[in-house]
Amino acid sequence: MLTIKSLHTHYGNIRALKGVSLHVRSGEIVTLVGANGAGKSTLVNTICGLVKPLKGKIEFEGAPIEGMPPEDIVRLGIALVPEGRQIFATMSVEANLEMGGFVHRRNGRQVREDIGRMFERFPILGQRRTQLAGTLSGGEQQMLAISRALMSRPRLLVLDEPSMGLAPLIVREIFSIVRELRQEGRTILLIEQNAKAALQIADRGYVLETGKVVLQGEGAELLEHREVQRAYLGKG
Ligand code: ATP
Repeated sequence: MLTIKSLHTHYGNIRALKGVSLHVRSGEIVTLVGANGAGKSTLVNTICGLVKPLKGKIEFEGAPIEGMPPEDIVRLGIALVPEGRQIFATMSVEANLEMGGFVHRRNGRQVREDIGRMFERFPILGQRRTQLAGTLSGGEQQMLAISRALMSRPRLLVLDEPSMGLAPLIVREIFSIVRELRQEGRTILLIEQNAKAALQIADRGYVLETGKVVLQGEGAELLEHREVQRAYLGKG
């Protein structure tokens, strides 16, 4: 579904991605782990068109998308749940969801139906539909960020550090939502610092270090890998 080949992204003379190749097959959860500054967000932002790559290829369902504007990439079926959630704090919960449905705005009925579906799935958001999004708890904001991304009806959902800053119980809930989304047939690219939980639910994973993929394999296999245990799970 998504194939990335030899991707290079620089910020001036900072080489954030140095030839990253990876793929995500339809129906998979693929996890990308790596320390601060490894280039995870740069990779996600390059996939979603927020940052332009220097060279390399990104194909989504067989078509090249590298360098395309973000809204065209959303239209093709990729949605991002950004790092730090980035909800529109001074807008209502409902208005945040409308923004997520922006690419379908000409089909008002579909957008309303989809908002209804989000409220069924996350009743707490329905109860707070008129409340300003900035007044929600961290976990509720993450649910809103996920729902907002789902409003574009993506086939590939990219989550950038969804567990960041959340209490352990809420983190568990977010990971179980991710698992449910896959069961519903969505494909997921999950970027996480919480390597253990993220690799546990992953079909496959990649480890990124200073802009390069240094390890890849099945989720369970990576969890057992000595280097992963040492660097990301604090063992050994
Ligand atoms: P984190 O978990 O801290 O978000 P990350 O793995 O997502 O880390 P990136 O944010 O992609 O890493 O950063 C990769 C490298 O690129 C780092 O050296 C970072 O300092 C640099 N970088 C990221 N964004 C910019 C930017 N807008 N301008 C210049 N350098 C940047």
